[in-house]
Amino acid sequence: MTDTLVRRTPWPESASRAVVTPLQPSVVYAAESPDALDDQYEGRAPGYAYAREGHPNADVLAAKIDAMEGLSGGFVTGSGMAAVAAAAMGILRAGDHILGANQLYGRSLRMMSTELPRMGVMTGLADPTDAAAMAAAIRPETRMILIEIVSNPTLRVADLHGIAALARDRGILLAVDNTFTTPRAIRPADHGADIVIHSVTKLLAGHSDATLGYVAARDPATNDRMRGFATTLGLTASPFDCWLAERGLYSFDLRYDRAEENARILADRLDGLPGMRRVLYPGRADHPDRDRAAALLGTRTGNMVTFEIDGGRDAANRLVRAARNIAFAPTLGDIGTTLSHPATSSHRALSPEDRAALGLSEGSFRVSVGVEPADLLCAEFEAAIRAAAS
Ligand SMILES: *Cc1c(COP(=O)(O)O)cnc(C)c1O
Repeated sequence: MTDTLVRRTPWPESASRAVVTPLQPSVVYAAESPDALDDQYEGRAPGYAYAREGHPNADVLAAKIDAMEGLSGGFVTGSGMAAVAAAAMGILRAGDHILGANQLYGRSLRMMSTELPRMGVMTGLADPTDAAAMAAAIRPETRMILIEIVSNPTLRVADLHGIAALARDRGILLAVDNTFTTPRAIRPADHGADIVIHSVTKLLAGHSDATLGYVAARDPATNDRMRGFATTLGLTASPFDCWLAERGLYSFDLRYDRAEENARILADRLDGLPGMRRVLYPGRADHPDRDRAAALLGTRTGNMVTFEIDGGRDAANRLVRAARNIAFAPTLGDIGTTLSHPATSSHRALSPEDRAALGLSEGSFRVSVGVEPADLLCAEFEAAIRAAAS
């Protein structure tokens, strides 16, 4: 290091090129001259200046998710919540109103109840399975509607077409968090969504080793506004996380299809086991939104299964202890099956009465089904549920 300037060692030349996307962790980019920097900032030449403003690994990943969603100009953020924040806080002003679905992801609900009101944005919640209830909650100041298509953990299916028609008629932006459904099941922009959001952390990246988000709007000016907010507030994604997520995306379709098939098999196997009160899966004939799921998602009814057993907390503890090969972890979309208990994780802030109103008890579990052999998975759950009932 003593006989050269620090940044002088050249990159080895090669007549061939790498097959894998290079990982570029550089925070800064050296320009050739002030004129060249002018060209870059004024859009006459492509290039990067500072990683908070953008970097190649984020752009490669965003372009791939854009293609999956049928959108363009989307960008990647440091988490799914950063993407939700870029959509809400990058667009709304004090005095605006945002209407959310009443079963949004927990932190999105927290943003609605705490952060947005603190900044002078009014918020409301309504049931997205009922477009009339959503319409009744709209105010003159409503500027955005935020929904998920399949709710967590009760797996209710939103009336996407009813809500999209409402948003279009009233000139309200419709933002859809497509994390649970993914573009494999539905592309919200093809059904009237103005903004599409992902927690890339979940099924898209798929390996529980990268925390990332994605957001894109159909309107380029809206994209620019959200991107400007994300750059200024530093919602930037790490190049390494983007690189990992891109690697994960190449197997996304395969993982999704296998996990969905497993979910369908597991849901049917759970039904009828001792102490089983109910099984919720949008592809089952007994699901309350089965017809809407079929109309919106076809057979793409996802990898999430929710069930409820008898016996309260004691039975719940027995089940988790017996399911030793299933990670009891509050995430979803990993290649491995994970099990979560809403009463002590995602929904722990709610009173037992409020949980009961959503249909959740101490016996409720949500399963994010992975890609394991279905027979092993079913045997593990069957044994755990028998142990819980004994
Ligand atoms: C996990 C999740 C988020 C938040 O994503 P993070 O990457 O954890 O910040 C947002 N929406 C939904 C539906 C999620 O499941």
